[in-house]
Parts: sequence; C-alpha cells; structure tokens
Amino acid sequence: MREGETGIANKLLYNGTVLTMDGADRVLKPGYVLVEGDEIKEVGEWRPDERLERLRATCSFACDAAGKAIIPGLINAHTHLFQTYMRGVSDHYPLAQWLREIIWPLSLVMEPEDFYLAGLIGCIENLKSGATYLMDHHYIHTSLQNTAGVLRAFVDSGIRGHLARGGSDLAGEPRLRETEEQVFAATDELLDRWEGAASGRIRIALGPLNLYGCSRPFLESMARYSRDRGLISHVHVAETKGQIDNTMERFGLRNLELLNEVGLLGERTQVIHGIWLDDGELEAIRARQASVVHCPVSNMYLASGVARVPEMRRLGINVALGTDGPGSNNCQDNLEVLKFAACLHKVYALDSTLLPPMDVLKMATMGGARAMGRENDLGSLEPGKQADLVVIDLLKPHIAPVHRASSALVYNANGNDVDLVMVGGRVVVENGACTLVDEREILLRAQSRVDALRAKLAAECPVFAFEH
Ligand SMILES: [Zn+2]
Repeated sequence: MREGETGIANKLLYNGTVLTMDGADRVLKPGYVLVEGDEIKEVGEWRPDERLERLRATCSFACDAAGKAIIPGLINAHTHLFQTYMRGVSDHYPLAQWLREIIWPLSLVMEPEDFYLAGLIGCIENLKSGATYLMDHHYIHTSLQNTAGVLRAFVDSGIRGHLARGGSDLAGEPRLRETEEQVFAATDELLDRWEGAASGRIRIALGPLNLYGCSRPFLESMARYSRDRGLISHVHVAETKGQIDNTMERFGLRNLELLNEVGLLGERTQVIHGIWLDDGELEAIRARQASVVHCPVSNMYLASGVARVPEMRRLGINVALGTDGPGSNNCQDNLEVLKFAACLHKVYALDSTLLPPMDVLKMATMGGARAMGRENDLGSLEPGKQADLVVIDLLKPHIAPVHRASSALVYNANGNDVDLVMVGGRVVVENGACTLVDEREILLRAQSRVDALRAKLAAECPVFAFEH
C-alpha cells in the first residue's frame, strides 16, 4: 500500500452530491472527495468497494454527506469587512451620501480592535455562507493597526483572505487621503509581514480606491507598483453614472478608458462593479483579459445600476461574484448573492433563459479563482487542488425535494444550510458552527462597541441619533 492510502491523516467526505465545477461540470451522485493534508487527493463516484470501505474505516475524519451537496468553496471577490459595523444604519441613501453620512463618520471613530471584531464577524459570516476565500478592500487607514486587525481576523477564523490595501489621494473625506509614498510604504510593510502568512492563506493586493478619488499621477504610480511586484490591482470602476461624468470632465475619458491609459488594466486587474461601461470598454476588458467582480445585491441596494454581465460572459470576459461590504448588502450571505445574480439579469433583460444555475455557480467558483490568478489550485474539486470545499444540507423544508442540486443551491439554499467548511484541508465550520472562534462572545463584544460608538456620534451625525 502506497503512502497516503493508509488513510491515517486523510479526510473523506462521501455519499453526497458532488458538484465538481471542473471543465466538464461533472456532478457525481453520490460521490466522494478524499483529502490528504491540504490537497484534494481523489474525487469520484461513491460505489463502496473493498478499498473505499477501508478508506472510510481508516480516515481520521469521515463525513457521511447523504442528502447534502459538496461544492468547491465559493470565492467572495469583493467586500469591505469593517462595514459589518454599518449594516442597516439607514437603507435609503445613494452611494455618495451613504459614504459621506454613514460609512466615513463611523469608520473614523472605530479603533483597531473594532476592525478586528468587524473583520472577524465578516469572516465568520462568509465561511458560514460557503465562502472559503475573500478579497477585502480595506481603505480606512486612520491607524496602521486597522489593517492588522482585518488580517488577524483572517488568521483566527481560518478563512483564506486576500487584503487589497486601499489608497486614495483625493478622497472626499480629507482624513482618508494619503500620498502615494504613504501607500507604498504601508503596502511594502504588509507584503513583508503578511504575504503568504498562515500557511499561504493570507495574500496582499493593491486597491486604488476608485477613479474619482485618485489623481492621474497617483493612479499611474499605483499601476507601476502593482506591475513591479506582480500584485492584483483591485479597483472600484464605473459604479454610478456620476462617476463617468467625473472622469469625462477631468480627462475627457470614460472610467475604463482612464484605467487603461494609466496602465491599470491587465490580466491581474479586478474591475469592481463595472456597471456603466460601453461596448468599447467591454472590448478593452476582454482584450486585456481583466476580470470583472459583480456585486448584484450592493448594486440593487444603492440603486447604482445593472452591470452587463450576460454580455460580458458572451464576450468571454471573466466575471467573479462579490457580496460587497456589509454596509451595502447588508449581509455577507454568499449563497444569497447567487440568487440575486440570476434574478437581476433575468428581469432586467426580460429573458428567463439568462444565467442558468451552473453558470452562476461557475462565476462564484472558477470565475473567482481566475480573478485571483488561482485557477490552477482553487475553484473546482479536482485532484491536486487545494481542499477548499463546502458541504450544504439539502434535506430542508425550503429546499427538498431536489431535482437538480445546482438549482437548489442557487435558488433555495442560504447560509443557514452550510454544514461543513474546509479551507486547505482544515475543518473550520462543522455542524454549522465555527470550530476556531467563539461566535457568541465576539458578537456580544461587537454589539456593545457599536452601541458606544453610535452614542458618541449621535450629537453630530443625525443619522446615528435613532433610539431603536
Ligand atoms: Zn466596494
């Protein structure tokens, strides 16, 4: 018997419906996934013979997934975890007012410990709604410790976390403006300390905030910095119609045209939102092989508009999905995003054939992996890839009976149905609860902190002065 076939340190998930999301979209019913260390060792149909029975008996961890789906971990390609503290302050503002009256005032009084708590709640919610990997666009730099708080939350929760270090030299809120030297010094430090930390789970990207909050020389420097270090550039683009007017007035260029001219449009670029794009801009994204991150719930909540996702996919543009921050969602339920994505485009185009469930799942898995440059080791259940996977209970009154697991996952399942989550072979959610952190204790601490911060803000910011 070869090393590894003894099953001693292996984990086995068997007897479930396995959606591999591989090139052939294979669905194995029932199927199994065998994990060795941090990698997937085997994926196959579950037809117990002598060898499989022996595996089941000898694995250090064996999960009978009868009535459950086993899928690759979803990839949440855009969020701002600190906004966990801002959910539901008001639900009626457009983007600019929402930033000015809710996000900036509260984020500016948050302390480093708050960024840790907000980040940790966000990581827990992401894991418990099926995301094993998230990209956090962090742009509140009132203290260097704020960023460390988010990164500590990645480490402690067990999630695979990527932090895009945000930066802006013309931010509407003066206290959030930074020079390019400040951004580079801070990012250099993050790369030294955190890149590849926690067994490779932690990564750093560069996140120039948006085009209307950055000068042209600042954006050009950001492009050079990312290119020199091989980093992902993560940037809000064309989220509202007003943002197009802004770059047209300043440079005579639409948003994507400016992004291209400053050298920020390439294979490692993640175009966040990308709503108000014309045909030429879509063609530029395709030609440069950049990715678009679509956040349907946030786009609807802030009434920003509808991204041209079906057309993007027809053109061969890679589209990933994101929740966006909890301030504009107001949750982080990655399974809920799947349903919103499908429904939004069907009704907008008055075409019910758009975005069948498998296509939506592909955006959330392989689409995300491609956007992160990780299509070779994440995004599908295949031997040799990282063991990032999620087990979802389908034997629920709001889901069963099931005809097609892909449809049940997109249209029926929600975060409460997630049973088990594995990141790099480590079980971080079991029986629907996080294994590494005390959820209740963290939630109670965060609530008392938020109550105190709101009381502090109530006098000067009327939106925080409500009683209930
Ligand atoms: Zn955002």
